[in-house]
Amino acid sequence: MSRRTADVPALVAAARDGQPRAVARLISLVEDASPALREVMATLAPYTGTAHIIGITGSPGVGKSTSTNAVVRAYRARGLRVGVLAVDPSSPFSGGALLGDRVRMQDHALDPEVYIRSMASRGHLGGLSWSTPQALRVLDAAGCQVILVETVGVGQSEVEIAGLADTTIVLLAPGMGDGIQAAKAGILEIGDVFVVNKADRDGAEATVRDLRHMISLGEAGGTGAWRPPVVKTVASVGQGVEDVMAALDQHVDWLTTSGTLRSRRENRATEEIHAIALAAWRSRMEGVGSGQAIAELAAAVVDGTTDPYTAADQLMGALS
Ligand code: GDP
Repeated sequence: MSRRTADVPALVAAARDGQPRAVARLISLVEDASPALREVMATLAPYTGTAHIIGITGSPGVGKSTSTNAVVRAYRARGLRVGVLAVDPSSPFSGGALLGDRVRMQDHALDPEVYIRSMASRGHLGGLSWSTPQALRVLDAAGCQVILVETVGVGQSEVEIAGLADTTIVLLAPGMGDGIQAAKAGILEIGDVFVVNKADRDGAEATVRDLRHMISLGEAGGTGAWRPPVVKTVASVGQGVEDVMAALDQHVDWLTTSGTLRSRRENRATEEIHAIALAAWRSRMEGVGSGQAIAELAAAVVDGTTDPYTAADQLMGALS
């Protein structure tokens, strides 16, 4: 489907009109790194910047999908249009048919005001930092007032996704990740709101205590600094979700009044520009870096008539 030539203005108009198929098609263009993306992003730009982007991260099985589901329900109860983006940085599958099953969003499958999309980003030049912000921009321009980004998978992606969100929720469960494990994984720094889910299990109180302690050790302090709250939930029955919502509301207020929202978004834009520029450079390098020009330079380095630095300068000179 994405091989067809896209009528970008019509697609963007349809997406802004709230047509889920147009939104899905635009995100497919992102996934496929379509040449039409340049025009898509230029057309979308004036309509972006209103969505509150919330990242949800945590180990597999901790309750991310269940919690996302509960938070979506709470925002829907407020009448907001919600986007959900499930990102799998390790999956080689495009289109996310398998991921689609993984996201337990049946409650919202028939709700036209909830856009749910899975996206695989492996294989893209630039990976997550390249594709996710563009997909977020599509959902933002389509009128989603809140967008939840859920990472499926583990590792570095957790930290990476935090850079993409206005607010990052770090989810833990008793016995799965106590404060010390969290500190080791480097996730204490990225959380704006910590949620200890599965509070119906033993050890929830101890996990909350550990976390509060570890967070306080790392706190910069000072007046006006954000102090990440630790909230307990039993997401499977909706318990504690109102506390999560209150924490999210407070964080939005703080982001806005402190000016952090703006600076986070500027940092994000910087990352995005880097990722796009690097991907462009890399593909151009691959163009000149595999042909006659590099063969001659390599021969000259071996012959000793030039050195690798001068050769690299010459190669880059050929790009500009
Ligand atoms: P994810 O892999 O992080 O997305 O986790 P899921 O949302 O798929 O949840 C993993 C399992 O934990 C599922 O079987 C959920 O029903 C269950 N689960 C989620 N929240 C809770 C909770 O608060 N308490 C208990 N006991 N189970 C939960």
